[in-house]
Amino acid sequence: MPDGTLSPDAATRPTRPWTPARVLVTPGALSWPHGTAMAERAAALGAEVVRLKADRLSNLPDAYKDAKRTLAVVVASPSRRRPQPIPPSADFRFDLAEGCPAHCSYCYLAGSLAGPPIVRAYANLPEILAELPPLLGQGRVTSTDAARAAEGTTFEASCYTDPLGIEHITGSLAETIRHFGAWDAAGANGVQLRFTTKYDAVEPLLTLPHTRRTRIRFSLNAKGTERFEGGAPRVANRLAAMQRMARAGYRIGLTIAPIIPVPGWEAAYDALFADCAAALDGVPEPDLTVELITHRFTEGSKKVLDGWYPGSALEMDPDQRSRKLTKFGSAKYVYPKATMADLRRALEASVARHLPAARILYWT
Ligand code: SF4
Repeated sequence: MPDGTLSPDAATRPTRPWTPARVLVTPGALSWPHGTAMAERAAALGAEVVRLKADRLSNLPDAYKDAKRTLAVVVASPSRRRPQPIPPSADFRFDLAEGCPAHCSYCYLAGSLAGPPIVRAYANLPEILAELPPLLGQGRVTSTDAARAAEGTTFEASCYTDPLGIEHITGSLAETIRHFGAWDAAGANGVQLRFTTKYDAVEPLLTLPHTRRTRIRFSLNAKGTERFEGGAPRVANRLAAMQRMARAGYRIGLTIAPIIPVPGWEAAYDALFADCAAALDGVPEPDLTVELITHRFTEGSKKVLDGWYPGSALEMDPDQRSRKLTKFGSAKYVYPKATMADLRRALEASVARHLPAARILYWT
């Protein structure tokens, strides 16, 4: 598109922000102004706010639909706020929250978070952010890889949540973007906040003093996969949000995940990259990165997802997959070698064709 506006075919539809039915707030969380503000914002949305008498969460809803409508505002314990290495995406991950309000039938959280799928948002943000400075220059991915050294020390904030999907209640992402923007990283090779999102409510982020130290990566997928992404904004909305963030000077990333060989996949993924190019056309320096992640599951995540989404048409048949051992010794199921090779060849060619300035960070 010569004027840099999104393709008129890409119809967006307003997304309703998530409103939890119940918000459980611990006494510890209420001792932090950030926790109090979350409770107040949730109450203003019409949620029932329950002030707990103890810091331990108990009697959580078992039913999936009740759990997905529950937010707990809690204090992250010292072990939960300790950043962890997270290759190949970034040097470290840290968590602003755990859980997500959307209903993706492949959700990777099914394999990583135990218990009912409520959202837990952390009130002690200052303590969480205070863990990061000692780690400058200490990572094993961008801190040491010459090809990614320009990114500086990278901190990933979306391993266990979609932080933008709950931002209208938490405010944690804006605070973290400001924190990274003002960070005095003298002596280090730079610092960068990274997060991935399927959400589109970027308006409050557009004017923040981010100083280009935040990379927002949009989780996008080909036509034919949206039916597996219940409750998440449409891909067209995410592309429009990406365009706005790029124009606001943020660094941009594409997280293409999970790549699924749906009928007509080659043309569908090629069209997706063409749409990305249209959205970013005319943006001077999006510093675009691409992460390519194929669909996979474990026995544990399949069991959880089969329980949450019994009617899903998503193929998760071990007999159609290759079994591989993870570095932790558990089994994961990926597409067979020939399918992987076909997907990789086609997607990498599409990226090169439509987004020649993009850097592909990894394929997995
Ligand atoms: Fe899971 Fe991401 Fe979907 Fe949320 S948006 S349900 S975290 S896959």
